[in-house]
Amino acid sequence: MNNTDAIIVGAGPCGLFQAFQLGLQGLRCHLIEALPYTGGQCAELYPDKPIYDIPGIPVLQAGQLRDQLEQQIKPFAPVFHHNQTVEDIDSSADGLQVETTAGLKIQARSVIIATGAGAFTPVKLRVEGIDRFENQQLFYAQAAAQYIEQKQVVVTGDSAAAVNTAIDLAPTTTLTTLLHRKRRLEIQPEQQARITELQQANKLQVINGKILHAIGESSLQGLQVQLQSKEELMLNADTLVARLGSSPKSNDFSKWSLQTERNLISVDTTDFSSSREGVYAVGDINTYAEKRKLILCGFHEATLAAFAIAKKTKPGEPIHTLYTTTSTVLQQRLGLG
Ligand SMILES: Cc1cc2nc3c(=O)[nH]c(=O)nc-3n(C[C@H](O)[C@H](O)[C@H](O)COP(=O)(O)OP(=O)(O)OC[C@H]3O[C@@H](n4cnc5c(N)ncnc54)[C@H](O)[C@@H]3O)c2cc1C
Repeated sequence: MNNTDAIIVGAGPCGLFQAFQLGLQGLRCHLIEALPYTGGQCAELYPDKPIYDIPGIPVLQAGQLRDQLEQQIKPFAPVFHHNQTVEDIDSSADGLQVETTAGLKIQARSVIIATGAGAFTPVKLRVEGIDRFENQQLFYAQAAAQYIEQKQVVVTGDSAAAVNTAIDLAPTTTLTTLLHRKRRLEIQPEQQARITELQQANKLQVINGKILHAIGESSLQGLQVQLQSKEELMLNADTLVARLGSSPKSNDFSKWSLQTERNLISVDTTDFSSSREGVYAVGDINTYAEKRKLILCGFHEATLAAFAIAKKTKPGEPIHTLYTTTSTVLQQRLGLG
């Protein structure tokens, strides 16, 4: 059992900034995230799009915002648990307890729900019977080295993530095939240069086509593929990595003992606490009068929630408003002195 001061469910921009504000208060936290990486909608839906309304930053790409939030919380060393979700919150002797879908148990006095648009889950391949190979030879998240090294690997998808996955995996495989459905892929010049290098080393081939069916009974042997030209071919495959994007799956809060409105969590705007003791909600998942689903608003909510959590965690201690510019306490917490 892990014990910490606060558990943050969801590592989108608001969950990340929540970890920063808790860190400034001298509080430890764990973050649980469905995706293998942080950033929520910024990372998953629009990483290359510019954002113009982050205070003091005239413009930055959504993916860069994620990177900078990650950088900002490093001094506090929050603990991340990826590729797992939280389905409900239990009460424990000391406060609250969550158990993730990966079986991880964590106890804390406070839980902050920052689940935004919902848990991002990978879009599955629609090829009859292919599910039988999932987590054996078909992977939607990261595949372990044993399924990649010296194997014939097919990476399927049209996104930049699919292209990058094929480039990253190819060197250690026998052969990697990037199989894409769109006639033209959007490939950056540096990606193209790397693809050419790997093609010349016979480590990578790029094929435009779609999977018709999987070949093999108890284990995957290959894929029957229809090319853009309508010709068919058989691709040998030990491992299939699908990068088809993801979509957010709404959380079912009916078992979380929370007051909700249209599946959004009702909060008190003085501290962004929910109707349940010790549980807070920040970012796109909460609702209150005049709520706006903006990153800036989520940052404000996370700041006030952190002050409230600090008051509860350190009863009797005054919780002052300190400035990072002048407070030696905050600067020490930030690892600056
Ligand atoms: C195209 C587009 C452009 C936008 N542009 C702007 C803009 O310019 N300015 C602006 O302010 N806002 C913009 N937004 C809105 C902004 O992205 C959201 O307000 C912001 O992402 C909300 O952050 P969040 O952390 O609350 O939630 P999210 O970003 O949705 O992150 C929630 C995270 O929680 C995870 N999660 C959910 N449920 C669980 C669970 N049960 N267990 C574990 N993990 C879970 C999810 O996988 C996800 O990673 C834009 C949105 C879109 C789609």
